[in-house]
Amino acid sequence: VTEEAVKSWMHNVIKREQYEKFMEGGKDFINDEEIWEKLKENSKPEPSKVRDIIAKALSLERLEPDETATLLNVEDKELWQEIFEAAGKIKEKVYGKRIVTFAPLYVSNYCVNDCEYCGYRISNKHIKRKQLTEEELKAEVEALVKQGHKRLIMVYGEHPSSDARFIAKTLEITYGIKIEGGEIRRVNVNAAPMSIEDLELLRDIGIGTYQVFQETYHHETYKRLHKGIKADYHWRLYSLHRAMEAGVDDVAIGALFGLYDWRFEVMGLLYHAIDLEKRFGGVGPHTISFPRLEPAVGTPFYEKNKKYIVSDEDFMKLVAVIRLSVPYTGMILTAREPKEVREKVLPLGVTQLDFGTNIGVGAYSKGAYSPEKQQFLINDERSLDEGIRWLAEKGLITSFCTAGYRCGRTGNYFMDIAKKGKVHKLCMPNAILTFKEYLLDYASEETRKVGEKLIEKELESLDPKIKGIIQDYLKRIEKGERDLYV
Ligand code: SAM
Ligand code: SF4
Repeated sequence: VTEEAVKSWMHNVIKREQYEKFMEGGKDFINDEEIWEKLKENSKPEPSKVRDIIAKALSLERLEPDETATLLNVEDKELWQEIFEAAGKIKEKVYGKRIVTFAPLYVSNYCVNDCEYCGYRISNKHIKRKQLTEEELKAEVEALVKQGHKRLIMVYGEHPSSDARFIAKTLEITYGIKIEGGEIRRVNVNAAPMSIEDLELLRDIGIGTYQVFQETYHHETYKRLHKGIKADYHWRLYSLHRAMEAGVDDVAIGALFGLYDWRFEVMGLLYHAIDLEKRFGGVGPHTISFPRLEPAVGTPFYEKNKKYIVSDEDFMKLVAVIRLSVPYTGMILTAREPKEVREKVLPLGVTQLDFGTNIGVGAYSKGAYSPEKQQFLINDERSLDEGIRWLAEKGLITSFCTAGYRCGRTGNYFMDIAKKGKVHKLCMPNAILTFKEYLLDYASEETRKVGEKLIEKELESLDPKIKGIIQDYLKRIEKGERDLYV
């Protein structure tokens, strides 16, 4: 693609009318001064007030900005402990002893933007640019299916060579791959903000969740750190509103922690969830991500900007406060975090983890580690099998279930059952079935042993009527049937 073509393409990406209509009096739903005021007004909270808010969250009600600001102001260690415990309880109430796993798949690292913190930014000369060809994509997906993966998040830089048509094509190819009974059943996408028309195209192909992180909700910081198409804060802020309008049911928000004050960003995420709920019949984000800034090859930003780096202790706090603020939203903790941190943060409300992660473009099929093709550096290199065993030893079943989506349990329907705390009742039986498939088809001897024991235990907690059906299905899976769900 010539430089001229890229420039003219860049000119036509943003359609202002597709976000201006959501703004009131030219203003968006993030008011920086209001957020700081709320954080100030609610400082030094009474323990009784904090406990009332914890109780409200435990009843699975979404918190209001003043309440979240109150939790963010807690200083007392014992109160934090109560918040941590409540976070774990809420997750279990809504999602049960289930964890969803997935793998990220980087498809292209060409990018026209210049985000200061990202290894893929256009001005980074130390990165090798690569877009997967059809053959290479197939090889990557096959390598992931062979590990036992059923869900992917496919990641793309912003570039005319990886526009919506290209993304649609890669989804189609991925869904079409079947090897020895294995297949990818759900593809989520992390890509640049798109127009309603482009999102409709992806909806028709069967996109899973569409994920766009705002990075920072703080207007001034956002402006300072972004150049290129991404410099338009509002095009990004309303990207998921457009997705919902286009009929993409499941949308995912996130903030990149380390760019600005972490308390401010938690408030921003809450306001984002509230605005989506308000405009789309009570349906907020399907998941929230809270990546922490990582060093990246050829990118001095991390070393030079330590002011807002989030400590492990604060990271635990922010995860727990998000859990209490939006009790029914999925929460994703990625392999950016080392094993020790994942160990501590997992019980604070996390619902999804990636394992066997390799974020170099083209690295799964080659089994190679290539920092010069990576966007940032990852810290948990455990395989899927190791990850699943680790979870099983904690009594957590890894779910590969995607039945919910294929049965239309998305968007409004999903939120409704999530808010009533019923996801886990509906999903545990299917989680057990997909877990059994994994144990038979992909697990090591060691993992199989731990896993089979866990299935026995979990069967006991099922409703007696369902238990009979599931036991019957498990026998059919043992005899070779696959993809059974209730
Ligand atoms: N180009 C698209 C975009 O920016 O939305 C999607 C892909 S981008 C590679 C995915 C996410 O990676 C970004 O939204 C950002 O939050 C995260 N990211 C970028 N640089 C990072 C870094 N140095 N450490 C951790 N996460 C980073
Ligand atoms: Fe490009 Fe996304 Fe990286 Fe920004 S964060 S440089 S848009 S890949």
